[in-house]
Amino acid sequence: MTQTRGNLFILSAPSGAGKSSLINALLAKHSDMKVSVSHTTRSPRPGEENGVHYHFVTVEEFKALIEKNDFFEWAQVFDNYYGTSKQAIEQQLTAGIDVFLDIDWQGARQVRELVADVETIFILPPSKAELESRLNNRGQDSQQVIAGRMAKAQSETSHFDEYDYVVVNDDFATALNEIETIVLAKRLSLQSQAIRHQKLLTDLL
Ligand code: 5GP
Repeated sequence: MTQTRGNLFILSAPSGAGKSSLINALLAKHSDMKVSVSHTTRSPRPGEENGVHYHFVTVEEFKALIEKNDFFEWAQVFDNYYGTSKQAIEQQLTAGIDVFLDIDWQGARQVRELVADVETIFILPPSKAELESRLNNRGQDSQQVIAGRMAKAQSETSHFDEYDYVVVNDDFATALNEIETIVLAKRLSLQSQAIRHQKLLTDLL
């Protein structure tokens, strides 16, 4: 089988929708899928490793990368800068790996303008009550902090209709299966198959 270029996918969601767990489960099952490691100016959270979860950089370093035109897309998400470097994705796509960008709606908009061939997926939590409980899972935060998180989640969610697919993360296994189905459908699309099976098609025709 001829190796074809990998496909590009975007996954966006409000915080608390379970996007990271879905991406981790997807990557654990499929060695030919990767998530791009973004640059960010925010501080690492406990357990986060530089170069694995993010490339953690200073605001000055981030701005220097913008100047060098190193980013495929970048955005200020609330208080911090986040960006996908061109290098992070190009190598993988060329090697036939499907690449997932875990980015916000602003980044998704930029990528859509840059490349026509991208599938965009928005993940929704099953209900407002469930989202609130997920954003309040430790029960240690003030009502004000939780209200702030809910407002951010609502602001991200308001862009769901700019995406190609919407997956509701109610039952985890079902949501994972739906994302895998989107990836599979893309691989089976005419465009991908025509490249992958060029020799077969030449023989048949
Ligand atoms: P967190 O700080 O919780 O890891 O991420 C906050 C938000 O930033 C999430 O919505 C995440 O998808 C988004 N984000 C992470 N990396 C990037 C990136 O490279 N570009 C853009 N535009 N958004 C990103």
